[in-house]
Amino acid sequence: MANYLVTNGHLLDSTGSPRQQGVSLFVKDDRIANIGPDQEVRDAAGAAGPHEVIDAAGMTVMPGIIDCHVHPSYGDVLSVEAMDLYAGVEFRTLRAALACRKVMRAGVTSICAPGGTWNINVGLRDAINCGMIEGPRISAGGRYITTYNAIGSPWPTWMEHPKSSFSVLCNTRDEMITEVRREVKDGVDVIKVAGDGDVLTHGGGWQGSLSPDDLRAISETTHRLDKRCTIHARSGRVAAEAAAAGFDWVIHASFMTDDDLDVIVKHGTPINPTLSLMANTIDWGPDLGVPPHIIDHYKQELEAASIGLTKAHKAGIMMMAGTDSGQGSVPYGEWHAREMEHLMTYLGMTSMEAIQAGTCNAAFALGMQDKVGTLEEGKYADILIVNGDPLADITVLQDKSRLNVIMKGGEIIDTATPLPERSEYAWEKPMLYWEDPRMPTQEFVRDHAASKPAWMTGNLEAAE
Ligand SMILES: [Zn+2]
Repeated sequence: MANYLVTNGHLLDSTGSPRQQGVSLFVKDDRIANIGPDQEVRDAAGAAGPHEVIDAAGMTVMPGIIDCHVHPSYGDVLSVEAMDLYAGVEFRTLRAALACRKVMRAGVTSICAPGGTWNINVGLRDAINCGMIEGPRISAGGRYITTYNAIGSPWPTWMEHPKSSFSVLCNTRDEMITEVRREVKDGVDVIKVAGDGDVLTHGGGWQGSLSPDDLRAISETTHRLDKRCTIHARSGRVAAEAAAAGFDWVIHASFMTDDDLDVIVKHGTPINPTLSLMANTIDWGPDLGVPPHIIDHYKQELEAASIGLTKAHKAGIMMMAGTDSGQGSVPYGEWHAREMEHLMTYLGMTSMEAIQAGTCNAAFALGMQDKVGTLEEGKYADILIVNGDPLADITVLQDKSRLNVIMKGGEIIDTATPLPERSEYAWEKPMLYWEDPRMPTQEFVRDHAASKPAWMTGNLEAAE
């Protein structure tokens, strides 16, 4: 494999240092071997032998994006039925491999997949690590642990919980512990728990599906087996109880009281807000026929999340960017970088804070903060070379035409060969929640949506 000297660019290393000029970087094999003043790095590269030179003049050299909330096995679904039932495991796995390529072409070099159907995330992770298929680094979750009274159980009690579901029904503590053990044996990195509800499954309620003792049992078993655990918790109470039980991070925490926040701050538990799913549904749901009650719910939730999570950010809680990609409102490879813009809009982050949320902070969810997420000597060469300055305008990261080089582990990703468009898949049934089978891809938004991001309307060019 080739070695690379990256020179002439502006280095944005994501450690919090300002963007620097005159700093070069040498990639040897899969790692960053040298970063420093241009001549010093040129000398080091020269001493190391033959290498290719990447001239990054006028561009920003930064770490690959990390999205800590992607579900490769879902398939850009528009209903819970499509998520749980309609595609067999064989088709799903192949579709998920394509999803991984789409994600990486958006500049995302690592993901955490907190939950999925079957054991597909583990298979993808291993196939990618073996070089069999192309995709980001994956921290793999298995099926959610759920009770009847949480997001993982959308089905009525009079039918058997489908084995193809993204969740496993565990109504007793013994079942929960057994499931943790099973998933760890089957190779997961992350245990995902369904802590409460969601508007899509039952109107947003069902707080506190698990007792603090249940949560502690899951957390203790997971950590005893040297894995990590996280939880879907839209309610602040559930998020706080999970934090107190030792969960490694919480997802959503949209409706937090000050008391909930105090508990989370006391335990220093990171949060993945996942604003993209709400924001996309609010922004483009009307153009796609999403029922108004779902849009209204997300408006209320985003408002509450904005207040509570802004306080959490100010209190020093680490925020990790993640999108829930794989849900139809957040299709693969389209909106990963937009989460950083949302963190600025709704949580008042600076662009530097938002970029760190989408790089080094999100690396925490993979347990890889020492290996990815910043550009530092010894770390994996997961690098973006971006035409523009994301510190001045975070939206440049959403425009794939500006991602000049996407490098993962020292290898440049092919972004030229076209990937197949999403079509209606053979297994799909008529839409249940949405009337329109189209996805809010960037192309859809460009052509149809009423409100478009600034960079799509050409304001960005004018601003430069
Ligand atoms: Zn999710």
